[in-house]
Amino acid sequence: MGTVTHLECLACGARSEPDGHDGACVVCGGIRDVFYDLDAAREALTRDALAANPDRTVLRYAPLLPIDPEGRVTPLAVGSSPIYDSPRAAAAVGVGRLLVKDDGSLPTGSFKDRASYVGVARALAAGADVVAAASTGNAATSVAGLGASVGLPIHIFVPATAPEGKVAQLLTYGARVFLIEADYDATYDFCQEAVAKFGWYNRSAAVNPYLVEGKKTCGHEIAEQLLDDLPDWVAMSVGDGCSIAGTHKGLAEMHAIGLIDRVPKMLGVQAAGAAPLTKAFDAGAESVERMVANTFADSINVGMPRNPTKALRAVRASGGRYVNATDDRIRAWIPKLARNTGVFGEPAAVTAIAGVEEAVAAGIIGPDESVLVVVSGNGLKDVRSAMSAVDVPKPIPPKLSEVERRLEAEA
Ligand SMILES: *Cc1c(COP(=O)(O)O)cnc(C)c1O
Ligand SMILES: [Zn+2]
Repeated sequence: MGTVTHLECLACGARSEPDGHDGACVVCGGIRDVFYDLDAAREALTRDALAANPDRTVLRYAPLLPIDPEGRVTPLAVGSSPIYDSPRAAAAVGVGRLLVKDDGSLPTGSFKDRASYVGVARALAAGADVVAAASTGNAATSVAGLGASVGLPIHIFVPATAPEGKVAQLLTYGARVFLIEADYDATYDFCQEAVAKFGWYNRSAAVNPYLVEGKKTCGHEIAEQLLDDLPDWVAMSVGDGCSIAGTHKGLAEMHAIGLIDRVPKMLGVQAAGAAPLTKAFDAGAESVERMVANTFADSINVGMPRNPTKALRAVRASGGRYVNATDDRIRAWIPKLARNTGVFGEPAAVTAIAGVEEAVAAGIIGPDESVLVVVSGNGLKDVRSAMSAVDVPKPIPPKLSEVERRLEAEA
């Protein structure tokens, strides 16, 4: 098990022991960060030791995770998502090298499985009866799927407007689903009320500090998979900010223990219609102002980011930037990413590469630089958005003349 030395509140600095309180700072209600015995991790996670470890799940990074590898975890294969090198996507976006890490290939189809892995393990260790989550969709489907794998009851609060694919996953996995007649920001607040009233285990990555610890494994993997061949930039779409903060922390840890010799710059990409973090970053601020969120990229349709401190600090510490991508640009990249790489991402997942294009146009990323984009969710989760980005052919009778006509028309 990773040796957690202590936790520290990002808001008031209060130190706390790793005491099984999986919530916010008891002094001020702020979000806490988790610290480890890095010397022990340095000894355990050498390049040789990692290469010799046959476990492909995120448990291979157990010395940097707040869970007991001997304890109960989901049997689902969370971890080791592939990285593809795509010269055609690099040319399409205008950079020297483009790498795609496909987290849509994780068990429930999104990056969120990394956090839920740790959340479910900790909930089991704590003997929790119910795990609750507020979500735009993927955090919910993830904890529903991983919960189902170990028989843990899951209660979910999502906006009633969540894409059908995600709601279908939730209901199929057997979670108790509350479809809330409100946007994500209000749904989140309501879920916190319910958690306080009913005493459920809270899967919110902005309250429970251990969830971001799971998200770190994306950074651990990028470091281990690329070693001396790291990209200049890692680009990720950002809603609440937990994912980019976690990925950066994973990279920084791997740097701290000597596995890699530098940390890439982080490019945080927000949808132009939901971009309070870009605004705060550009203003040099530490906190965000709530805005009315309006983007079709539902997973990042967040007007009140819940983890602004971690999200802003991570990008600043890396020497990176925040940029915005318009909905039109995001929509265009659904087929463009798929056609150049074979990786089908949901709108929030292709937002990362749409933002790279934006950053190249703005001169933030140079034409010779290398970029890794994290594709954070599978395109099949939101088929309606994908269909809005492609030309749908008219049905034809099964006649060769019809095929010939089409081939000629499109020659
Ligand atoms: C949750 C999510 C994000 C953003 O993660 P945050 O921690 O909210 O910033 C991006 N893409 C997808 C597909 C997601 O589900
Ligand atoms: Zn505090």
